[in-house]
Order: sequence, then C-alpha cells, then structure tokens
Amino acid sequence: MNRRAFIAAATATAAAPLLARLSWAAEGSFEVTRTEEEWREMLTDLEYEVMREEGTERAFTSPLNDIKELGIFHCKGCDLPLYDAATKFDSGTGWPSFYEAMPGAIGTKQDRKLLFMVRTECHCSRCGSHLGHIFDDGPEPTGKRHCINGVSLTFEPAAA
Ligand SMILES: [Zn+2]
Repeated sequence: MNRRAFIAAATATAAAPLLARLSWAAEGSFEVTRTEEEWREMLTDLEYEVMREEGTERAFTSPLNDIKELGIFHCKGCDLPLYDAATKFDSGTGWPSFYEAMPGAIGTKQDRKLLFMVRTECHCSRCGSHLGHIFDDGPEPTGKRHCINGVSLTFEPAAA
C-alpha cells in the first residue's frame, strides 16, 4: 500500500464510527420503533407529551418520587431496565432523581430549548423515549443528577 492509499484508508476507518453516530442521531433510529399512532395508542396524553415530545411532568406529581425500596426502574416505552433504585436519591426537586443510569441504558444529546442554557437531554437507548435531563450537581460517586420524569418509567420491586 502506498502512502496516499494508506492515509485514505486510515481516514476512512477513523471517520466511519463518527459518521455512523451522526446518522444515528439525525435519523433517530432505535432498536424499538413505533409509529406516532402506535405511541399515542399505548401512552396517555401526558406520557406522549413527555416521552415523545420532550415535555416535562409537573414537579411533585409522580408517585415514583416516594419509592425507596430496592428494585429497577424500566422504560415505559420498551421495558428496558434504565435505573437501579440503589442509585436513586432525594434531590428535593420533585422529580425522581438518580446519580447513575444502568450501563448502556440511556443516550444523551444537547438540548437548546432554553435560551439561557444548554442542557444534557437523556432518553432510552432502545426506543428513544425522552426521560429527562442530566445535571452536574448530583451526589457522589458520580456528581451527576439524572432528573427524570416519573411518567417515562415503571418500577419493578426487587424480588423479596
Ligand atoms: Zn425505551
């Protein structure tokens, strides 16, 4: 292989994962996909607004706020396990809060909907449903605060 061919090959190899990731984000293609009608059928109006249109439930309205027992919080859109209750903490914000997601469970993107700040949006990695936002004022060990809409989640208590 001559030098020019080598550089071209190396460049293509380096660029491929980046391009794949960009197109993934642009198309929003996920392992679990549903039409808008299917989503509307399986979700309430509020769930649809939050999960599919990145809305936000009113603070202190989710019954999941008060859950303190061990278990796993799953995605309401596709049942993927997202958050271990062991990482849940009381943030005082009125939304279920976690300092860490389960490995590979969520995806993130920049959210510029608020003019004065860029927030990190997070969503289910399998069906793309919006969960909430991640902030840098969480507790140890991660320092992160995943501020999650309760309507995007279901709770499965650990087996006794
Ligand atoms: Zn999901």
